[in-house]
Amino acid sequence: MKTDKSDILTCLRNSEDYVSGQQLCDRLGVSRTAVWKVINQLKEEGYRIESVPSRGYRLVESPADMYSESEIVSRLHTKWAGKRLVFFESTGSTNPDAKRLAEEGAPHGTTVVADRQTAGKGRRGRSWESPAGRAIYFTIVVRPAFIPDKASMVTLVMALSVAEAIQKVTGLSTGIKWPNDIVVNGKKVVGILTEMSMTPEMNEIQFLVAGVGVNVNQESGEEFSEELRKTATSLKIESGRQLDRAELLAEILAQFEENYGTFERMVNLSGLRERYESRLAGRNAVVRVLDPAGEYTGISRGITETGELIVEKETGETVLVYAGEVSVRGLYGYV
Ligand code: ATP
Repeated sequence: MKTDKSDILTCLRNSEDYVSGQQLCDRLGVSRTAVWKVINQLKEEGYRIESVPSRGYRLVESPADMYSESEIVSRLHTKWAGKRLVFFESTGSTNPDAKRLAEEGAPHGTTVVADRQTAGKGRRGRSWESPAGRAIYFTIVVRPAFIPDKASMVTLVMALSVAEAIQKVTGLSTGIKWPNDIVVNGKKVVGILTEMSMTPEMNEIQFLVAGVGVNVNQESGEEFSEELRKTATSLKIESGRQLDRAELLAEILAQFEENYGTFERMVNLSGLRERYESRLAGRNAVVRVLDPAGEYTGISRGITETGELIVEKETGETVLVYAGEVSVRGLYGYV
């Protein structure tokens, strides 16, 4: 039933004109009654659908920020990213869900989306605040042919994709705090956590999962916990506009599909590096590198083709910073 609903919604959304009941039946191979039932369900959910005898149905308006499997699927315009989509109202964290599906053989591009996470994860065992009804939480499974050494670049590919999609949909100027955070006006709106599973011989990647959390419609800083208020923000706070999460998610997946394709051709960031660097927060400024082996400062100059941050120390020595255990800060604050 769910598939019928997504399919019918997709047909209605993609058609400028009326779609006749017969056309829907033929295209989806279902009965008139089935179409009629789904249309009624959609109306009950708040979709405004006009039905005109002899012409058919037309989608006039969707409910504001409708966030469901059918709504997201009807907005996708990708070939593989999100083509298999699993939606949960609530889950612990979408990364373990995606890993479980991948273990069971889920194809490249499978995406798990949740409206709420009860145990959202950040890097190094940290947590990600994940309230319901406000944000995007999703994890995509990728099955690369490249070697495990290259995996960390996928985080940068995702960061660039999310930053570009947000800017396209909201017009906000987005920066990337290397390697994996997206900032708007100096505050964090997105976190990304990539995890890898290797074959038992540890020489090949079985799959990767890239998990993304985006603060979208939080109304004010009050909605974040006390400790995050100084560093976190949402797209609504920054743009003053309520956003459709399904539309933004579809754009993120489209951008990721395209950028991942560019990355995969060379298995390096040569085709994306300039765009990534143009968004790099703190570029040509002094940054603090919080390396567990010892903190230091230097000038951030950009990234290498394999995704390391290039930092020029005061001594003149150039260091390549590998992601993983390291966080980067501005000299006087978060960015
Ligand atoms: P950083 O460099 O910001 O310390 P990180 O890349 O090491 O971050 P992430 O895994 O991206 O860490 O995110 C986890 C951290 O992000 C948490 O420790 C917390 O400080 C912060 N955080 C948690 N939830 C949110 C949220 N919803 N919005 C913004 N920041 C959050």
